[in-house]
Amino acid sequence: MDKKNVKPATIAAQALGWIDDETRGIVAPIHTSTTYIRDPDNQYRSGRIYARDHNPSFDQAEAVITALEGGHASLLFASGMAAATAVFQALAPGDHVLAPKVMYWSLRNWLMNFAAHWGLRIEFIDMADPAEVRRAIQPGHTKLLWIETPANPLWTITDIEVTCGIARAAGVAVVVDSTVATPVLSRPLSLGAEIVMHAATKYLNGHSDVVAGTLTTREGSALWLRIKAIRAQIGGILGPFEAWLLTRGMRTLFPRVRASSASAQAIAEHFARHPLVEEVLYPGLIDFEGHAVARKQMVGGFGGMLSIRVRGDGNGERAAIAVAAGVNLWKRATSLGGVESLIEHRASVEGPGTPAPSNLLRLSVGIEDTSDLIADLEQALVKAQK
Ligand SMILES: *Cc1c(COP(=O)(O)O)cnc(C)c1O
Repeated sequence: MDKKNVKPATIAAQALGWIDDETRGIVAPIHTSTTYIRDPDNQYRSGRIYARDHNPSFDQAEAVITALEGGHASLLFASGMAAATAVFQALAPGDHVLAPKVMYWSLRNWLMNFAAHWGLRIEFIDMADPAEVRRAIQPGHTKLLWIETPANPLWTITDIEVTCGIARAAGVAVVVDSTVATPVLSRPLSLGAEIVMHAATKYLNGHSDVVAGTLTTREGSALWLRIKAIRAQIGGILGPFEAWLLTRGMRTLFPRVRASSASAQAIAEHFARHPLVEEVLYPGLIDFEGHAVARKQMVGGFGGMLSIRVRGDGNGERAAIAVAAGVNLWKRATSLGGVESLIEHRASVEGPGTPAPSNLLRLSVGIEDTSDLIADLEQALVKAQK
């Protein structure tokens, strides 16, 4: 079989099939050296000088992500936030930026503070509405448009292809936070995005034991070169051991995401008709607002994230928190994308200004048996009514 034509799942399972030149090992060694020897004639023929700029432990993970996203190059960062903020730091004071009203909360908060200090003109809009995107773009001034889809914690879907089309016509670069969709289900670069970002802490690593972030670019643009320089100079790099763990985690990315997705679909369908649940938010439900667009740009499933709104007295907050308190298998914790299922009362985390209704529980579906997860939520919902 021609290696160039293998499917992404094969690329991930074999981590591109790299063999260590030195030992012929099928698993790469971890390189801890912070510095590299200079040749006697004062050259650096190895191409490596110092570990803040170059670390061979990054190469395989970056190459795998680049292949999975169909991009030109990738960069690993110390966290998803380090990756995302590097993009905004590459902009200049006075630049106009469009970001979604519904997005990962910490990044939204950072953007509001950073924008004020840095002189970026950030406008938060309904990114799922192409007419609003068209209206909000200021030709010549808007430099970046940030998409998150499906977006935390309502799983709002933005049409990547349509939005990129509008942006391209106005010379605006589009960056997609594709953490929730993963390269298993969606490939934003093929839909017109410039750069795709992942909180690799989540699905890419998948085992809740590494904090990491990635950016992958479609081409070696001026924006990309600035981002690359920012990583090398500010030093938000990943440690070599974490990079190695991330490569190991990505080998099982496809079976993990497929299992989580199928389970989330079954859980969403089960609770969508449940008397103790007011609403289930999940892109895979046919009556979900963004379902048709999700169907178009996500292949093989709708992801492992959903939210349920619990029925209860008043705004339902008490009942929702009681459900989170009453589960035995689901872990009451923030984050997402691990093999174990997590449950979280999102409004408590996000505080004032959150788009999360008071009765919303965010569920990250892991790879446990689906019927166990459903039974555990069932008993917690019943217990919470007492
Ligand atoms: C977790 C997350 C981030 C931030 O990643 P960290 O690794 O926690 O810094 C960004 N976007 C999304 C969608 C996330 O879930």
